[in-house]
Amino acid sequence: MTTLEEFYKIGPGPSSSHTMGPMRITYDFFQRISKLPDDQLKRATALKVHLFGSLSATGKGHGTDRAALAGLLGKAPATCPPEFLDSLAANPDETHQLTLGPTTLKVTLQDVVFDATKGDFPHPNTMTPKLLAGNEVLYEQEYYSVGGGFIEWKGYKPPDKGQPKYPFEHASDLKKYLIDDQIPLPQLLLANEMAISGKSEQQIWEFLDQVAEVMVRGVDTGLKVDSVLPGPIKLHSKAASMQRNLKTAAAKGPAAHAITQVASYGFAMGEENARGHIIVTAPTAGSAGIIPAVLKSLRDLNTPQQKIRDGFLAAAAIGYLCKHNATLAGAEGGCQAEVGTGSSMGAAMIAQALNAKPKVVSNAAESALEHHLGMTCDPVAGYVQVPCIERCAYGAVKAWTAYCIASEEVPEERRVDLDTTIAAMALTAKEMNPKYKETSEGGLAVSLVLC
Ligand code: SF4
Repeated sequence: MTTLEEFYKIGPGPSSSHTMGPMRITYDFFQRISKLPDDQLKRATALKVHLFGSLSATGKGHGTDRAALAGLLGKAPATCPPEFLDSLAANPDETHQLTLGPTTLKVTLQDVVFDATKGDFPHPNTMTPKLLAGNEVLYEQEYYSVGGGFIEWKGYKPPDKGQPKYPFEHASDLKKYLIDDQIPLPQLLLANEMAISGKSEQQIWEFLDQVAEVMVRGVDTGLKVDSVLPGPIKLHSKAASMQRNLKTAAAKGPAAHAITQVASYGFAMGEENARGHIIVTAPTAGSAGIIPAVLKSLRDLNTPQQKIRDGFLAAAAIGYLCKHNATLAGAEGGCQAEVGTGSSMGAAMIAQALNAKPKVVSNAAESALEHHLGMTCDPVAGYVQVPCIERCAYGAVKAWTAYCIASEEVPEERRVDLDTTIAAMALTAKEMNPKYKETSEGGLAVSLVLC
């Protein structure tokens, strides 16, 4: 029942709950107040956003205020240029003008208030934007950033959804449609998406093209920028130098050249996420470098646009299976759930885009996931940088490796099927020590000493 827009969410990194959700919230609020009648807007004097709970406690380090201000200023998460987000961080005292109908308001970063961290909040990530006339509240809305970039608000009712045309719970359920009934996977997924979301085919393609555009823009930006990434690790970016040094990689032979190329794309988007620039959850912010790296390398092969769209659909199907039968959250299942799923999606995307048979698509996805089983989540200092960024590069390379293996073996001879591996991931997640579930209390997070 998940839709593509719920799955591939566009917004600023590095945290889907602490930056992407807040920007989507303030952009939603901006759209609401833009529709207020002129006589109300005429009286407006100020805008404030109050952050509560975890958003207030850890929002400073994540850049929650910057993301919230960008949305409040009417910057759409999907199209906000990275330079704008950088300028908000670089010039925290700058005053911005926001025109709402007949009124122009002055807004600064200080209008995003880090409010109470403890209290009886409806959700740990609560925030309330307000439009004020002096002390009088003209319009306010209580919102919740409920995780994964999803947002809700007081009185929220989930949108009505249709029923999928071809329901499936497990990969084995797809077999009947794909093999017995000979329905191509992209056609099946498109029909489901249209039935569930109520969107037209054209609208679905437009959305996937937008996702692709945001991803490619992110990789291209990341390949050009050399910088020390925000936060205490003082991690220097690598994508741009890897890209510059590709000639050296070529001298090391075709394998080194190809791997360096793909890995640099993964680094580029992972680093963009760390910079707080716009990314797409695929399936999460921490793993957001993998699918863009796969996409960019498919583009290098001049893969037709429709094949790329088909690849996105296949990747989403793998994500849905992992979400439904295991988990996509590092906090629940460790990094196998994030980077493992992302790599598995990437392998399916490559196979689908390159016209592989359904069994090969499924085998490629299985292979990539299998070789991430048990991977823990231990981000150093709580920042989505070490090991996350390099893991995106590995995730993309492993996606290609999985596709290469799956497309060369006899598909029917593969001993492990996708459902089995997803079940293994669910079991491993359940039995994993809680220290390795995004707490930064184990593994690299405690082994690496920052000075
Ligand atoms: S280590 Fe944790 S935070 Fe980093 S990508 Fe993996 S799951 Fe996400």
